[in-house]
Amino acid sequence: MSVVMKFGGTSVADPDAIARLIGIVRQQMQRDSQAPAVVVSALAGVTDTLVAIAQMAEDGAADRAATALQALLDRHITVATAVTTSSRDAVLAEVRREFEELIGLVHALAVLREVSPRSRDAVLAVGEVVSSRIVAAAFADHAIASAWVDARTVLVTDAEHTAAAPDMAATCARAAERLAPVLRDGRVAVLGGFIGATPAGITSTLGRGGSDYSAAIFGACLDVDEIQIWTDVDGMLTADPRIVPQPRLVPQLSFAEASELAYFGAKVLHPSTILPAVTKNIPVRILNSRRPENTGTRITADAAPANGRLTAIACKRDVTVIDITSTRMLMAHGFLRRLFEVFERFKTAVDVVTTSEVSVSVTVDDTRRLDSILDNLHTFAEASCERDMAIICAVGENLRVDATLFARAVTSLDRIPLRLVSQAASRRNITFVLRDADVPHAMMRLHESFF
Ligand code: ADP
Ligand code: ASP
Ligand code: MG
Repeated sequence: MSVVMKFGGTSVADPDAIARLIGIVRQQMQRDSQAPAVVVSALAGVTDTLVAIAQMAEDGAADRAATALQALLDRHITVATAVTTSSRDAVLAEVRREFEELIGLVHALAVLREVSPRSRDAVLAVGEVVSSRIVAAAFADHAIASAWVDARTVLVTDAEHTAAAPDMAATCARAAERLAPVLRDGRVAVLGGFIGATPAGITSTLGRGGSDYSAAIFGACLDVDEIQIWTDVDGMLTADPRIVPQPRLVPQLSFAEASELAYFGAKVLHPSTILPAVTKNIPVRILNSRRPENTGTRITADAAPANGRLTAIACKRDVTVIDITSTRMLMAHGFLRRLFEVFERFKTAVDVVTTSEVSVSVTVDDTRRLDSILDNLHTFAEASCERDMAIICAVGENLRVDATLFARAVTSLDRIPLRLVSQAASRRNITFVLRDADVPHAMMRLHESFF
């Protein structure tokens, strides 16, 4: 069997976590004939800190940024020192060099007080560059033949910085050239997730949480037998454990169900992860790096539906509802086209859509261009928006066969004001739009009713 193994931030957070990771990879290598590609995130919390540092630069707070960078460097030095022996000097020198460059860059940005999306990507990418270098060195010092591969020389993306999209053909060509030979050689290829580069070689990122996506992209290119997502929970759970206490493990689910859940807020999987897996029909497994003996969640094309129930519920918080009413009081011919053209022009994705005869309501989570969107809508419609809303999404293949599930879901939300309700043609999900403040309560009720 051939696999891609992705380890998230908490699975590389400190020397103990990296020791567990080494154990997990060693076990996998004892089972398989082929060496795995290992994709790692930045150490836990590092990307958040880098986001904060970019903000300090934008605010011109050069001194604060320098202090934060020093603390970040110290943390990496401590971890790298603890997990290496003979490769120690070399990896420490690499880490210091990466940070020297970063410190110079952040200083320049702080002088300019301007951080473009492209510069932000350059800052954020350092987390994955150094974490992957440290893990590669740790493998070498624990008798696992490995090679660090700069993910920016493999993952080719467009120039949509901070949310770049992969060029699969170009990436797969690079993977064949730079990754496959390492694996054929019996060595583990270690790459940073989340990061790539444009065809011109400018560093880009896939968006927050994007390491899962990187793993799936490399997995599809290498045509592996399984994409493993190692994280800090047992797998896909029936609800977000930060909102619903003690949700259950979902042992298996379909690609379609997993996509819906990830898209509507199940953070354990980046929403785009499933895409490359579907193209090559590669199973995705979510596993707990603290309990590697567990079987986790297996995501495949044709998973059997959860017996008679929903599969899981997810929620996406902090969304905005926009209500748009045709000023001509009727759905004039072409109204919907004009309306969606506005969202297209401002590159803003719409999640839930409901319509009545004279009005359309949509939800968006990206409000960066909201003012321009409203201005444009106002040229042909009345439009207003309401913030602090949320989407709850109940997912299950069973929704297609059992009409009573829908009624049960609505009944369980009795007395919680629902702003919009929709069920798409796939009938694999029901979405509710409600006040963000009602989310915990509503999630508990739904969870109690179904699980
Ligand atoms: P990693 O750093 O490993 O990528 P993330 O923090 O991105 O980990 O994702 C794992 C987290 O996702 C869990 O700790 C959990 O809090 C959250 N989460 C939200 N919804 C779900 C869900 N339905 N199932 C499992 N985890 C979920
Ligand atoms: N480190 C990046 C983030 O925190 C990518 C990832 O962890 O998947 O968003
Ligand atoms: Mg993640």
